[in-house]
Amino acid sequence: MANAPALSIERIAHPAPVSDADRKAAIADPGFGTVFTDHMISIDYDEGHDGPLGGWHSATLGPRGPISLDPAASVLHYAQEIFEGMKAYKLSDGTMALFRPGENAARFNRSAARLAMPALPEDLFVESVKQVVLADKEWFPGVEGGSIYIRPFMFANEHFLGVRPAKKYKFLVILSPAGNYFKSGAPAVSVWVSEYTRAAPGGTGDAKCGGNYAASLVPTGEAFAKGHDQVVFLDAAEHKWVEELGGMNLFFVFDDGTMITPPLRGTILPGITRESIITLGREQGLDVREEMYSIDQWRDDAASGKLVETFACGTAAVVTAVGKVAGRDGEFTIGTGGPGQMTSSIREKLVGIQRGTIEDTHGWVTRLG
Ligand SMILES: *Cc1c(COP(=O)(O)O)cnc(C)c1O
Repeated sequence: MANAPALSIERIAHPAPVSDADRKAAIADPGFGTVFTDHMISIDYDEGHDGPLGGWHSATLGPRGPISLDPAASVLHYAQEIFEGMKAYKLSDGTMALFRPGENAARFNRSAARLAMPALPEDLFVESVKQVVLADKEWFPGVEGGSIYIRPFMFANEHFLGVRPAKKYKFLVILSPAGNYFKSGAPAVSVWVSEYTRAAPGGTGDAKCGGNYAASLVPTGEAFAKGHDQVVFLDAAEHKWVEELGGMNLFFVFDDGTMITPPLRGTILPGITRESIITLGREQGLDVREEMYSIDQWRDDAASGKLVETFACGTAAVVTAVGKVAGRDGEFTIGTGGPGQMTSSIREKLVGIQRGTIEDTHGWVTRLG
């Protein structure tokens, strides 16, 4: 890579890693988001600092553990925090691999820019992820469909209560061994169309920031309380256009070989899974359109049979069929109410590329070692 900055990440030996027996027990059935590995990456930023990485310095790969924060740390007051979500997969030959990590690095910096946070050199982001995953490779769960979920994030830790962008930040990468999101195959989920909105034009809907998730918890709780699995958000201005789920993008599949996904108008998170599926769909000969799609049209097309499938997609659960949609105006079923054929074939294609059983013709897979 041209002009690569000096990527020196200092290693701090772990004084007491989890024992073999405890680690094996923890990853036997890890579920999602509760088991964590031994190590983490930590890199600090100070506005005045002028080193080989600009304001970034003190990059370490060391033991994962609590961090101390001053009570006035600005993230605790004004929520300058962004994150990424990615996975290390195991290829069929046993090598670990990342899927399009450069896209996560680039999106991280777009989120940073929107939250008035400093950019992190993209090769430093990717190198950090690689090093910590390799350091904790023994944590890879042997379960079918297992992966290591990777959570890079950054927050403001200057202690100052004035309202302005902080001058100090911390970037961390932690790892969480994960099982198959759905234990036995992928069921179709039932979704609730919320009266709440997730993102307004000009807001932070296209940035991966914790604040968006804080705002989605009440609507998601409402969906759960009504017996549904996920929430669907409509646009804030007209309350008419389907945008996305709380943390997954949506695709609509029609009987004439057309597939629609809502366009990125600043209020939708630009999913890497979404972008990959657009590419794969087009290669497969589908007419994939980024087009606004209304809740009324969704209901009408499901009723007429023109719409045959709907699925949601994202790194955590890959591709998930939507079988039932409910909202203030009643509910409707899509197709048979179960996972459709296109949903299954797109899921298999994507998972196949990620696991190395289908040829990676796009250079999406980065092997680790
Ligand atoms: C992360 C995220 C997605 C999915 O993005 P991927 O890159 O495909 O994992 C979709 N919607 C929201 C709100 C998200 O935060």
